[in-house]
Amino acid sequence: MAEPSTPLKSILGSTAAKLKTSRGIVDVADFLAFLPRRYVDPATTTDLSVLHEDEYTAVVATVKKATTHPMRQRRGTLLNVVVTDKSGHEMTLTFFKPFGHVDRLLPGRTGLFAGKIQRFKGTWQLAHPNYELFDEEDADDAMETYAGGLLPIYLEVPKLDSWNITKAARLVFHQLDDLPEPVPEELRTRHHLVSLLDAYKLVHLPRTRADVKRGLDRLRYDEAFTMQAILAQRRIASDDLRTTPRLPRPGGLLDAFDARMPFDLTAGQLEVSAEIAKDLASEHPMHRLLQGEVGSGKTVVALRAMLSVIDSGGQAALLAPTEVLASQHFRSITSMLGDLAEGGLLGGSEIGTRVTLLTGSQPIGIRKKSLLEAASGDAGIVVGTHALIQEHVQFFDLGLVVVDEQHRFGVEQRDALRGKGKQPPHVLVMTATPIPRTVAMTVFGDMETSTLAELPQGRSPIATHVVSNPRWFQRTWERVAEEVRAGHQVYVVCPRIGDDPSLPAVSVSQPGAMRESSEESEEEMVVAFDVDESAPPPARELRSVLEMEAELRDNPALSGLRIAVLHGRMATDDKDETMRAFATGTIDVLVATTVIEVGVDVANATVMVIMDADRFGISQLHQLRGRVGRGTSPGLCLLVTETEAEAVQQRLASVAATNDGFTLARLDLEQRKEGDVLGAHQSGGKSQLRLLRLLRDEDLILQARADAFAIVGSDPGLERHPALRDVIASALDEEQAAYLERG
Ligand code: ADP
Ligand code: MG
Repeated sequence: MAEPSTPLKSILGSTAAKLKTSRGIVDVADFLAFLPRRYVDPATTTDLSVLHEDEYTAVVATVKKATTHPMRQRRGTLLNVVVTDKSGHEMTLTFFKPFGHVDRLLPGRTGLFAGKIQRFKGTWQLAHPNYELFDEEDADDAMETYAGGLLPIYLEVPKLDSWNITKAARLVFHQLDDLPEPVPEELRTRHHLVSLLDAYKLVHLPRTRADVKRGLDRLRYDEAFTMQAILAQRRIASDDLRTTPRLPRPGGLLDAFDARMPFDLTAGQLEVSAEIAKDLASEHPMHRLLQGEVGSGKTVVALRAMLSVIDSGGQAALLAPTEVLASQHFRSITSMLGDLAEGGLLGGSEIGTRVTLLTGSQPIGIRKKSLLEAASGDAGIVVGTHALIQEHVQFFDLGLVVVDEQHRFGVEQRDALRGKGKQPPHVLVMTATPIPRTVAMTVFGDMETSTLAELPQGRSPIATHVVSNPRWFQRTWERVAEEVRAGHQVYVVCPRIGDDPSLPAVSVSQPGAMRESSEESEEEMVVAFDVDESAPPPARELRSVLEMEAELRDNPALSGLRIAVLHGRMATDDKDETMRAFATGTIDVLVATTVIEVGVDVANATVMVIMDADRFGISQLHQLRGRVGRGTSPGLCLLVTETEAEAVQQRLASVAATNDGFTLARLDLEQRKEGDVLGAHQSGGKSQLRLLRLLRDEDLILQARADAFAIVGSDPGLERHPALRDVIASALDEEQAAYLERG
């Protein structure tokens, strides 16, 4: 009898080699997990109007006519066979060696034809397909194989047709009479789930669509259940950690800061601050996610948490995804603190502290000084990029780590942070991307969450319009000029940087800069992932920052305006310089890539023009436009597109129609693949979400979460649930391997 670890070779012989070479399938467990992508019903012909080019598939069709032609280029004849479905849609089969086929593929015969579908001269085509005819006399391996059932279609395995895989499945199940059960019996009964072995049988060898559904229901539940059990264990493990409680000191830094804050905290900010203060006062490290719309005032909340940690003698680190953002945080925190940030300096406040910026591309001298301030504890707050945690930065007593604009920051990085302090630091992760409930429960499922729902008073709404008619393009630039004349500033966002012969391909001036700049250009390329798949490829090059700048300089409507560019290929100093100039108002129009996507805060910027807006995802557009309307003047966002496709227009219209980030996040989730939503860098992404859909399966995920937390809560080491423990161990191995591979 076989078990999950049995090598396939011992059951399937030479077929096993094909599965191994092309799909890495080695043992029974791998084979079971290689699920069919769809099913064909041999009893009815397949709809030939919905096929996918370049995909391996099998269709049921009826031969309409067969003709042979001499070949033009070389000797021999070509056999063309036209097959149809029941609505008359056609597909052509071509055979370069007609021998043996001409007498079999007679008009009226129905069969199963398999191969890679191609589009050729306006019709679908299968070149020398494999096939099985249903009504032939010397029948019919294929018929036997799926008699009365559905034929599963798998991803392409060269030299192996789907019906061969089905045969293999029969052999495997013949040898397999038991599988370890990770889901306790009691739960299976309660949720009417079939056994794991039956679930695999139902999806690999179904008779009806209902079979497939029953099988998948169980496998989906397993996926959610295992994931949530991992998160539950993680949560319990972090509850076991001990750390130093951090309490503000009466009359200390936090009090001094509160006393001089120029505004009142919103009710939401007060509530979240209280939650955080409570966490910090505990001897278990905080592990909290703070989500709130762009401009909802997360930074102030985080700063107050940092100050209370400093009050208790510890240090805080603030991590930003890019150098631009790190510098901006450094500047704004320094200015919010005023003389409270001049601790130890002549004329500084007595209770004050020091804020230090630490980035990979700083000149060695400055960097050394920052490192020293972090290690000595002179710096109460260290601001830097994510690289801060990857490098050998020492802290005197790191009490709190704040991660800003989380997005691409996975569990592994969070774990790496834990090793940075003498004791595990408290961790606060902030994100402006509204996170649908199920995403919060998967990617961030081991954290507590807080939400800032309201925006501070006096914020102006952002109006968004789609500009898709070329007649309005020039008007757009006139509008930009008007805005500048009224004393405001404007962003123009493009999807590409563009080529400038005067720039080196990658501007790496110092060794330390390497990681940073590659990190940032990666950031900008995210656009490519975000593209809606239904959007046709653009017929022209996308707008680039550099071309756009030149174009705007030449545009008479904008003459006299101060225009500058910002993108990830610029040296860090230049980027900083440009951001500072824009912040102080000496630049009118900033032409930029998505470097400005997160956190950039210039209250006087009121208009954003997004070029090729169709190239950006919904959530990304929402993030981008959050850069304008941060002050008291109303914001305007213009989504410029030259694509007329219905789907694109609709997507942009929905962004224009609402400012509610949660609504848009759900919409985004509906339209994009999960892997993209979670980000390839997210743990729990690629390796765990196979069958689950975060929206469709919301109820299932909630249920599985409750079940898993209950089980793990009562049996944290899973001693009484060995099969579940094993599944988790191998899932974590896989995750670890994937992480190491990404490096
Ligand atoms: P987020 O990081 O959530 O996008 P910020 O913390 O950067 O938002 O806040 C955006 C702006 O609003 C900042 O200029 C900040 O000083 C200001 N702000 C924050 N809280 C309040 C408040 N309660 N009342 C008025 N303005 C506020
Ligand atoms: Mg922010």
